[in-house]
Amino acid sequence: MTQHDLTLISGTAHADTDVVELKHLIDGAWVGSTTGEWFERRSPATGQLVSRAATGGAADVEAAIAAARTAFDDRRWSDVPGAERAALLTKVAELIDDNRSRLALMETLESGKPISQARAEIEGAANIWRYAATLAWNIRGQSQNALGPDMLGLVLKEPIGVVSIITPWNFPFLIVSQKLPFALAAGCTAVVKPSEMTSATTVMLGEFLIEAGLPAGVVNIVLGYGDPVGTAMTTHPSVDMVSFTGSTAVGKAIVAATAKTLKKVSLELGGKNPQVIFPDADLDEAADAIVFGVYFNAGECCNSGSRIIVHEDVADALNEKIVALSRKVPFGDPLHPETKVGAIISPDHQAKIDSYVKEAAAAGAQVLLGGAPLDIDGMAGAFYAPTVVTGVTPDMPIATEEVFGPVLSVLTFKTFDEAIALTNDTRYGLSAGVWSENVNTCLEFARRAEAGTIWTNTWMDGYPELPFGGIKESGLGRELGAGAIDEFLELKTVQMRLGKSRQKWV
Ligand code: NDP
Repeated sequence: MTQHDLTLISGTAHADTDVVELKHLIDGAWVGSTTGEWFERRSPATGQLVSRAATGGAADVEAAIAAARTAFDDRRWSDVPGAERAALLTKVAELIDDNRSRLALMETLESGKPISQARAEIEGAANIWRYAATLAWNIRGQSQNALGPDMLGLVLKEPIGVVSIITPWNFPFLIVSQKLPFALAAGCTAVVKPSEMTSATTVMLGEFLIEAGLPAGVVNIVLGYGDPVGTAMTTHPSVDMVSFTGSTAVGKAIVAATAKTLKKVSLELGGKNPQVIFPDADLDEAADAIVFGVYFNAGECCNSGSRIIVHEDVADALNEKIVALSRKVPFGDPLHPETKVGAIISPDHQAKIDSYVKEAAAAGAQVLLGGAPLDIDGMAGAFYAPTVVTGVTPDMPIATEEVFGPVLSVLTFKTFDEAIALTNDTRYGLSAGVWSENVNTCLEFARRAEAGTIWTNTWMDGYPELPFGGIKESGLGRELGAGAIDEFLELKTVQMRLGKSRQKWV
């Protein structure tokens, strides 16, 4: 490969923005760290310094959890009627819309993702806040009126309490928006920790919550590292639930950490998501969705369609189309409006991506395209070439582990059963896709594939109305959909005797 085969967008100028200073939000006040330490974030695309974030210590997280506990226990938020909670969430959605450009710019500067994609994510996030508002109107329990003439049963839904929300760097604003509005709709209070690399838009969200009128202490934001901030948020006895998105390794550590106090845990973890292409598929449609699925967000995506399982009769034709389309995808300057794939989050992560490809090549796989870091004119940061690896066997790490980069692994199959076996031959179970013009093939695949979401003749669509989450080692619980609020609610059974009891015990 030479770089000239690809569509590259050179950098022209650094963003003309001041370095943003980010503080913790604790009990309604913006405060620096008791440690006095700051984390400096440079754009992964240009190296430009873009933000300085307070780095939280044990005392900061303790104060934030105490504020959330008090705000929950004195019922300042849970007593607010659902309709008023809904109005506040809707107001936050409006503030997100009003600040879309500013939010998108900060997201792009900190994460390296393309500005057009960041704008779309912010727009999508605002709609999730709107959707959560509709659920705040509709918290309904049950009644049981057939327990006999002197008994009435009621099942109440109550907010679970203080929720720790821990988010990663790949979709900072979207992911916090998949959790926090539903926790607030339920009446919970929260402590939120974004990744230290991408704190800015979560801090901006805190500003919107205050402007919208959320009482102090209901949402607290602590910036900093997994240790000590994240660990305190998962072990502290005053926390009732942890909602986490990130790697499966940290998800397992959180389950272990929360076991001591038996907190509820909801986890959105990794995926090694297959798309299966049958011989009767529309290969042009499939190829377009495949390049989208693997290069979107530079592959740094739990839903990355990183594993293609194609029928051997059409494998060569499909690979040819994928490589041709890959060359057309604009990689480069995240601030350019045409760019579709931006920078890799860090040089360390770029090296990790590269090692998976090199290891596969050494084990006998063929690198049809890419397989190396990219030099983009005018950009000092980390980029990785669109990469297609064929001849992958199921035992290779590139076929089983989350590469989290713009790297496609291609495996082949002969029979339907073999395709299903390959699909399910993974510890993950987040999403899976099928391409066939035969609806019976699609439906049978949907029934037999082990994943939380199945896409048939499409990839990675998402709606606030539809639940999202994984099975196996991809997670616990579901976000989004009408049930999203239930994750943050407890059931309480009330049994009411009517009149005098009919049967005395003695
Ligand atoms: P992590 O899972 O390590 O981190 C996610 C969040 O958890 C961050 O806020 C992190 O803090 C925090 N955290 C880390 N350790 C703990 C802990 N022990 N207790 C509580 N919170 C903790 O993801 P990374 O960002 O480090 O990425 C590593 C790999 O994880 C990626 O290469 C990718 O493979 C995968 N990943 C998967 C994601 C997904 O959506 N499925 C999302 C992001 C990453 P800190 O900021 O200090 O890291």
